[in-house]
Amino acid sequence: RAKEAGRNDFRFFTQEMNAEAHEQMVLEREIRKAIKKEEFVVYYQPVVDVKQGRIVSCEALVRWQHPFKGLVAPNYFIAIAEETGLIDGIGHLVLKQVCQQIQKWQNDPVMKDIRVAVNLSPHQLRNNNLVHDIEKMLQYYGISAGALAFEITETQVMQDPEGTAVLLDDIQALGIKIYLDDFGTGYSSLNYLKRFSFDVLKIDRSFIMDVEVDSGDAALVEAIIVMAHKLGIKVVAEGVETENQRQFVAQQECDLIQGFYYSRPIDAEEMSSFCHLNFAKN
Ligand code: C2E
Ligand code: MG
Ligand code: MG
Ligand code: MG
Repeated sequence: RAKEAGRNDFRFFTQEMNAEAHEQMVLEREIRKAIKKEEFVVYYQPVVDVKQGRIVSCEALVRWQHPFKGLVAPNYFIAIAEETGLIDGIGHLVLKQVCQQIQKWQNDPVMKDIRVAVNLSPHQLRNNNLVHDIEKMLQYYGISAGALAFEITETQVMQDPEGTAVLLDDIQALGIKIYLDDFGTGYSSLNYLKRFSFDVLKIDRSFIMDVEVDSGDAALVEAIIVMAHKLGIKVVAEGVETENQRQFVAQQECDLIQGFYYSRPIDAEEMSSFCHLNFAKN
């Protein structure tokens, strides 16, 4: 009997596996189609400079404008796109849209100095054409490198430190800034902060979230800011949602703030309106 039950378990297990594998396959096919139809749109989340009290940059965050599911968040499709290599296609569309947007914003006195930071995935970093693609894109749209930045995570750096070092050097040589994203969540080595010349460090939202109630998190945030500043790196606090969190990181002399406190990610038009409003108030 036990043997029978075991066999049944096994069959059940494989059926479940098949269902999951099937679902993944369907999703992969859908993503492939969505790339061809260019269904991905870029949203922008404002980043505020604490001292200047105004928006100086933003993060480009991709969404999938699905024909019947509506606006789909990246958590739903980035992982599988990464696994299947489809992220290269999505990343290309994101970069193209961002460069087009920067080009438009160049004619707008309020928007022309807003830098846009684009997320790069591990798979994209392994693409030998990446730097060439970026360079071509800058030339084609006639935008200056300073208008663009790229965000990578410490886990990506750790996967291939030597390769990443060369790549980041090449990107920075173009005049593009590199941000270290989600700092504190991956397997990080502080040594890399010294070896790589990151321009900006983004403290992960998980530290900011409990900064008011968890003295450990508060101490870490304070220490990260001090350390980054000693290394000449600017700091962004990610995921600031409340006035208390904003006050705390501002008191610790954090340079930049990003979070729902100011704005959720919004489309290009809303971003432009938001910046004009912010500009008028200053
Ligand atoms: P990330 O790069 O760390 O982006 C920040 C995420 O935190 C965004 O989620 C943003 O909406 C969210 N966030 C910002 N402020 C707050 C806040 O105050 N509270 C809360 N609860 N959340 C906040 P989103 O847009 O869903 O993106 C999730 C992740 O997907 C990103 O994390 C990034 O790793 C990835 N991603 C997004 N766009 C792209 C892309 O174009 N390319 C690649 N490779 N990855 C992307
Ligand atoms: Mg990011
Ligand atoms: Mg982040
Ligand atoms: Mg994240």
